[in-house]
Amino acid sequence: MAKLDENGVVLACPNCGQRNRIRYEHLNQAARCGKCKTTIPGVNVPIEVDSEEHFNLLIGLSPLPVLVDYWAPWCGPCKMVAPEFEKVAASTVGELIVAKVNTDAQTAIAGRFNISAIPTLILFQGGNEVARTSGARPAAGIKDFVSNSLSHAGV
Ligand SMILES: [Zn+2]
Repeated sequence: MAKLDENGVVLACPNCGQRNRIRYEHLNQAARCGKCKTTIPGVNVPIEVDSEEHFNLLIGLSPLPVLVDYWAPWCGPCKMVAPEFEKVAASTVGELIVAKVNTDAQTAIAGRFNISAIPTLILFQGGNEVARTSGARPAAGIKDFVSNSLSHAGV
């Protein structure tokens, strides 16, 4: 999983493993590894949200829509759907950012969005909630939810 800091998304180079940062404002662009110069096409793994501050930066600054999976470690359906989110992240590079919020650890974020059932998916664009849904589904169903929600939002 990728991580967040105050400036962007930190992820490992697929070639050499070096940690590179893609700035929040540039999440729709490819990057180059600072060490081996390999092209990093974009964020291809789910991002672990570790604080509300970083959550706000990601949601507010990302030029791409952000799909957030609200989950908890004790939730069986959440575990089943985790590999589906990895597939979605790997197949939507440059189109969609996939992030995960552990509702047990990030209680402020869970409370702010009134998360009552998990897994809940919320799609954000330009800092605003576009759509939400609950329940586990396969990667294709998750992608359908995203594309249907974006077309309804007029994007
Ligand atoms: Zn590298």
